[in-house]
Amino acid sequence: MIPYGRQHISQSDIDAVTEVLHSDFLTQGPAVPAFEQRLAELTTAQHAIAVNSATSALHLACLALGVGLGSRVWTSPISFVASANCARYCGADVDFVDIEPDTGNMAVDSLREKLEQARLTDTLPQVVIPVHLAGASCDMQQIYYLAKEFGFSIIEDASHAVGAQYQDEPVGSCRYSDISIFSFHPVKIITTGEGGIALTNKPELADKMRLLRSHGISRDDNLMTELSHGAWYYQQLQLGFNYRMTDIQAALGLSQSTRLMPIIQKRQLLAANYDRLLANLPLGLPQLDDTNISAWHLYIIRLNDKTKRKLVFDGLRDAGIGVNVHYIPIHTQPYYQQLGFDWGDFPIAEDFYERIISLPMFPELTGEQQQYISEILQQLLDN
Ligand SMILES: *Cc1c(COP(=O)(O)O)cnc(C)c1O
Repeated sequence: MIPYGRQHISQSDIDAVTEVLHSDFLTQGPAVPAFEQRLAELTTAQHAIAVNSATSALHLACLALGVGLGSRVWTSPISFVASANCARYCGADVDFVDIEPDTGNMAVDSLREKLEQARLTDTLPQVVIPVHLAGASCDMQQIYYLAKEFGFSIIEDASHAVGAQYQDEPVGSCRYSDISIFSFHPVKIITTGEGGIALTNKPELADKMRLLRSHGISRDDNLMTELSHGAWYYQQLQLGFNYRMTDIQAALGLSQSTRLMPIIQKRQLLAANYDRLLANLPLGLPQLDDTNISAWHLYIIRLNDKTKRKLVFDGLRDAGIGVNVHYIPIHTQPYYQQLGFDWGDFPIAEDFYERIISLPMFPELTGEQQQYISEILQQLLDN
């Protein structure tokens, strides 16, 4: 089976991990800060806080922005459930904003409309979490203007978009957001096995996330409520978590990050090849405007005839092509239905869901495999 996504591991990755295994520190050593510094350099963000998953990073980001019981957080229905769950962990109420039908990203018009409605009923959100689906940024400048107008904070769920650019700047720069999140799960652009990172330009948010990443414990004399008892002394100031990344993971990430640009270039070539091979099929292909350079985490096709989606999906799987669907609208998950959401709530997202298939997309995918995928797809669509 050709998978839909797969990590790319080089000998230097293996050497970097082995080196940590032979060193004094498997965790809380020098690799994590080095990885954080690398990601800060790559994105131009001032602060980087590496954690054990993007889900943890999203949770810490919500907490740092003061999300708590009764807060309102809005995100996109076309995302992985973690984009919404992070707010639920904090006791917040989650709501969704419908998407653009061609990109699958949060629609600025729908956001504005929903904000205007919310202002009338005094139910404006505290935080909005746009998701850069497939690796192409949402229209962050417009969302930022809305944030200024309506007074909410922004967390970019850029889990798919490590290495992408928006308006000629790296995604993750936080120019138009308070915090940006990357995921380093093996299907994403670069990996640490499990892992994630929060990026921000705001030192107070960085401090909060660092504290909460490790139990809420501090050894900083300036933060202590009484004089230090000695060199062993620490204080737990808040209820935090163990969300730390290990040095083993960070060393892998650091090594992978040296290949980020070649990996993105390879994904771009694969996407351009799909564009060419599939140009004449009855499909919507990924749409990018010229403000975006996608990281091409996913290559999502949209069938013109959605009644064929299951047949085409099953046919591709039967032909050994590991296609997938990104995503089942979050609001239709039983957990969210129990909170009062239902089918019909976000019709554009639901229509998108019914048409989409993610084709295999990973650096070692070959031109011949893409040719094969396009031929099978053509046969299935012709039937
Ligand atoms: C993968 C993913 C996450 C969660 O990432 P983990 O590192 O697995 O926790 C969150 N949001 C989106 C959009 C993702 O694709």
